[in-house]
Amino acid sequence: MSPIDSRPPCLSCGSENLVKNGSTHHKKPKFKCRDCGRQFVEFSTQKYISDETKALIDRWLLEKISLAEISRITNVSRD
Ligand SMILES: [Zn+2]
Repeated sequence: MSPIDSRPPCLSCGSENLVKNGSTHHKKPKFKCRDCGRQFVEFSTQKYISDETKALIDRWLLEKISLAEISRITNVSRD
């Protein structure tokens, strides 16, 4: 994995010519591609779990949905 503050390539055009463009109210960095102009709130990877997903999982846990079921639904590892 690359360092947290590295700038991954643009998901749209693959350019690494990205600028930091503030952050969301969740304190996640936003980036903007200087080549294609596309903005990214967060670079998701297969291992990345969004706050939304975490919130969903929390809610499911409260509703006694099993971790195995959650894992199956979200493809998130139980680890
Ligand atoms: Zn781009």
